[in-house]
Formats: sequence, C-alpha cells, structure tokens
Amino acid sequence: MKNISVIGAGTMGNGIAHVFAQNGFTVSLIDLNGEALEKALQTIEKNLERLLKKERITAELKEQTLQRIQTFTDLKKGVSQADLVVEAATENESLKMKIFKELDAFTKPTCILATNTSSISITKMASQTQRPDKVIGMHFMNPVPIMKLVEVIRGYQTSDKTTQQVFELSKTLQKIPLQVNDYPGFIANRILMPMINEAIYSLYQGVAGVEEIDQIMKLGMAHPMGPLQLADFIGLDVCLSILNVLYDGFKLDKYAPCPLLINMVLANKLGRKSKEGFYNYKHDKKELIVSEDFLR
Ligand code: NAD
Repeated sequence: MKNISVIGAGTMGNGIAHVFAQNGFTVSLIDLNGEALEKALQTIEKNLERLLKKERITAELKEQTLQRIQTFTDLKKGVSQADLVVEAATENESLKMKIFKELDAFTKPTCILATNTSSISITKMASQTQRPDKVIGMHFMNPVPIMKLVEVIRGYQTSDKTTQQVFELSKTLQKIPLQVNDYPGFIANRILMPMINEAIYSLYQGVAGVEEIDQIMKLGMAHPMGPLQLADFIGLDVCLSILNVLYDGFKLDKYAPCPLLINMVLANKLGRKSKEGFYNYKHDKKELIVSEDFLR
C-alpha cells in the first residue's frame, strides 16, 4: 500500500493524515470544507514543528511529510488512486452510509475501506458496498500522532486478509493494533463513555464539582486526565453520539446520556472545539467554571 486517502480533516483526520505522511505514505486529505483543510495543514505543520523542536524528527522529514499531503474538496478525485481509505468524517450514521456507498463506486475494487468511527456499526457501513470483506474499523485515538493504540474492528464479513493487512499497516505507523468484534461502542468507548456519563451525572446531581470529580479520578485512579476534561477534549457532541449508539444498540438504561450532556450539546458547549464545555478555553488555557453554572 502506498496511496492513502483520509476523509474529513477535523480533529482526527489531520492527525491520521500526519501519521501516514510521516511514515512515507502519499496522502490525499479530503473535506467538504476548504477552511477545515487549511486549518488541518496548519495543525499538522505546528505538530511537526513541535516534534522537530523535541528532536524526534529531522527538518528534512518535516518537509517531506508536508509535501506528501495533498488536499481535495472533491471526494471522487481524492480517492481515485487510493489503496486504502480512512473515513474520519463527522460521527453521523446516515452521513457515513452515504460516504461508503460513494467510496464503493469511486475507488479501485482492491481498495480497503476503513473507518475511524467511534461507535457506528462497521457491518452496516459494509452493507452499503459490494466489498464487505474489505471494510474494517481502524479506530485511532486522539491525539493521533501521540497515542499508540489502533482498535481494529472486524465487521461481520471482514476477511482475515483485510484484517491482516490493516494489522501490518498499523505496525508500519509504529502503532499497536488490537482486534475486537463489531458490537456497539466496540471496546474503547463501551468502557470509556459510561465512565464519562457517570462523571456528568455526578456533577448534574450535585455530588461534587468539576475540579473534585476530575482530580479524584486523576489522583485516585492515576488517570492522566479527569473524565470531564477528557469529554471536553473528545467533544461533547461526539460523546453524546456514542452514548446514543450504545443506548440504541443495547436498549439498556445504563447507557442513557445524562440530560446535562444533552443540554450542553444543544447549547453548543462542545468542549475545546467551541471554547467552552466543562471548562472554559476562551483564553487559550483551561479555566474552571463555577459548578453552580451547570445546574441551571
Ligand atoms: P470533527 O467534527 O472534528 O471533523 C469532522 C470533519 O468531517 C469536518 O471537518 C467536516 O467538515 C468533515 N466532513 C463532514 N462531512 C463530510 C463529507 N461528506 N466529506 C468529507 N468531509 C466531511 O470530527 P472528529 O472528532 O475528527 O471525528 C471524526 C471521526 O473520528 C468520527 O467518526 C469520530 O467518532 C471519530 N473519532 C473521534 C475521536 C475524538 O477524540 N474526537 C476519537 C476517535 C475517533
């Protein structure tokens, strides 16, 4: 595999494009939104500069990495040469179904179609294509250039060969792939999201404030980041979508998203990306919001 197309240039797409390009692949980064593409290239350059300063890469590798990434707003053009596509567009089921149908029509028949979805059924996306054996989940973690894990999700019809190829590819990116089956939320989010939801419920019920909840999990469980800060980092809209997938998929009340999370998403308090969530990021640093403000 040589040519990789990444669909969606948001939080995850820019990191995925960065990691492939830094490891020698030619990358086509595709987004409907030209501004998102520009912002992604700036983020990649900033992250490469940081790696250069830490002497983790050379100036030559930084330049080569940037040169290997081309941007497209047209899906058909952006995927025509791809050996592998990683779809990292917005976490929305109908959107992903449409993209997979188009990918099946626009890519070479040998191309592997991977998705970075956090929770949506791989088997359902595969059903939109004539090649369900070549559809697979390749779930990178945020921030992609730093986090080692790739959760590799086998859809119901994914072949051994495709799984093997994606395992080898993940290792080429200096990541550690681990295989799971295709059930709602897979493993990472099936375990993480109920914890985040419970932290939000604790705040909602006035059991403790944001700082106390996050510090208890950091100091007590050795988590590098508290669950509320992590929710801000992931995006509260993404957390809500994943909880809804778990709730719909298992039909169990334990996955019901906290009403406070729903209200915050409706009010566009999405975490870092909207500059406000459980913390305030308006001054380019994390600032506390008084707990009473959440309990309106
Ligand atoms: P994001 O909102 O930051 O970016 C999504 C991008 O997709 C946007 O730039 C948008 O313009 C683009 N897009 C939407 N529709 C498109 C289309 N039809 N064609 C091309 N581009 C399109 O989202 P994100 O946080 O990067 O999440 C992307 C995917 O990665 C989701 O499936 C999400 O569940 C998953 N994911 C997110 C995280 C996280 O921490 N945010 C972690 C792991 C996986």
